[in-house]
Amino acid sequence: MRLTRVSVAILLATAACGAPSDPISEPERPNILLVFTDDHAAHAVSAYGSVINQTPNIDRLAAEGMLFSNAFVTNSICAPSRATVLSGQYGHLNGVPTNRDTLYSSTVTFPNLLQDAGYQTAIVGKWHLKIQPTGFDYFEVLRGQGQYYNPVFFGPNDSTLYEGYTTDIITDRALTWLDESRDPERPFLLMYQHKAPHREWAPGPDQLALYEDEDIPEPSTLFDDWSDRSSAARTQEMSLAADMTEQDLKFVPPGNLTPAQLATWNAAYGPRNEAFEAAGLEGDDLIRWKYQRYIKDYLRAIASVDDNLGRVLDYLDQEGLADNTIVVYTSDQGFFLGDHGWFDKRWMYEESLRTPLIVRWPAGMDAGAVNAALVQNLDLAETFLDVAGVAIPDAMQGRSLLPLMGGETPSDWRDAIYYQYFEYPGWHMVRRHYGIRTQTHKLIHYYEIDEWELFDLEADPDELHSVWGTAAYAELQGQLEQRLDSMRVHFAVPEVDSVPYIQWPPGG
Ligand code: CA
Repeated sequence: MRLTRVSVAILLATAACGAPSDPISEPERPNILLVFTDDHAAHAVSAYGSVINQTPNIDRLAAEGMLFSNAFVTNSICAPSRATVLSGQYGHLNGVPTNRDTLYSSTVTFPNLLQDAGYQTAIVGKWHLKIQPTGFDYFEVLRGQGQYYNPVFFGPNDSTLYEGYTTDIITDRALTWLDESRDPERPFLLMYQHKAPHREWAPGPDQLALYEDEDIPEPSTLFDDWSDRSSAARTQEMSLAADMTEQDLKFVPPGNLTPAQLATWNAAYGPRNEAFEAAGLEGDDLIRWKYQRYIKDYLRAIASVDDNLGRVLDYLDQEGLADNTIVVYTSDQGFFLGDHGWFDKRWMYEESLRTPLIVRWPAGMDAGAVNAALVQNLDLAETFLDVAGVAIPDAMQGRSLLPLMGGETPSDWRDAIYYQYFEYPGWHMVRRHYGIRTQTHKLIHYYEIDEWELFDLEADPDELHSVWGTAAYAELQGQLEQRLDSMRVHFAVPEVDSVPYIQWPPGG
């Protein structure tokens, strides 16, 4: 049975008129399970062609649903992405252009609207917005970034410390809610949100030995010299060479381990650290070593996410919920996995601009599809409202993916996306920039220093050589600049940033 927006609308209209509904023939509004991770780059998902790891449970969603091969964020940083997912708005409108900001109390979010429409709503895990969650019948969330081990969760009235690895515990709590608190008479929204694989990429006890005897392939741009681009590329502070801390590199264990956890941790890292000290690496060899240390920990954190997703998918199967539950796997943005010699995100460059987006809904979609339309985290709120038959507020700036999920990309679907990053000065010192990306090109303006980049993504997919200002691209450049101006007007971007320049570093 294929559930469409039309059939949902008929169902709701019938219900509103008080006519009896036939529980056998009437379609039911789908459940929504949003699986949301933190900093999980698409090129660390095997369904996206990862050459560095396997993610069998995420891949299962792709095989049974739709993979969006061109999914992007509006602003590649944590809290702003979360606010955009909730509100369907850019950060300059919802109140969260940087990690320092919080949602306006007036910002309408999709959980609020689904709750009003009769959905049972819950969120478990990482929240990372500075206000108490609203629009949820149930919430149990980490405060701020939270801890990788032994996390404290906050509910409406109290807090609880759980002993163990946070990715496991978030899953335990999500499954407990599904099993014990879910109202089978109503559709549910469950936001299942991991801290992993955010910095400092701390592995769980079950993954400490993973990749121990392997070398992970290096990215081709590991030794990028950042020439042929804006000066912004050379003034960042996110390189493997210069900017990793002792904690990032695991010379320091997480600070809140129990004695037993610490013993397990030291059994894994102690011999590794001794071997490093004995090797006396420097120069490119040291960068290569840092890359291996970093990427293995990052991938170990993802392996736990994938294992735990498998537990949740099994539960949906066992309870007969899988067929009419929309499962969405996505992350708040991408990440540099040694690409360009970097870790972290923030840039409009491909590795951080992209995010994984996979949707499975057996009752409403075909299996094994790939959609290459330009889609964004800006579209999720509208999509969830659409599938629930709830009107999408005019203030939301994205567009429902429901037609695409049904296999038909509308002829007037967007042919470019708009992006803006505001957090300068700030961690990693990435200059403020905005730009547009089409299917084939990307134009970026570092507006405070008035420098530009233009990339031909077909000729130069790694974005190593800006062609801005070259004669061969002059006509296209003019077209893209006009298009950028019109998109800034369309999305009501203020001419002058409302985000102040602050003293940096804090207290400095
Ligand atoms: Ca993030």
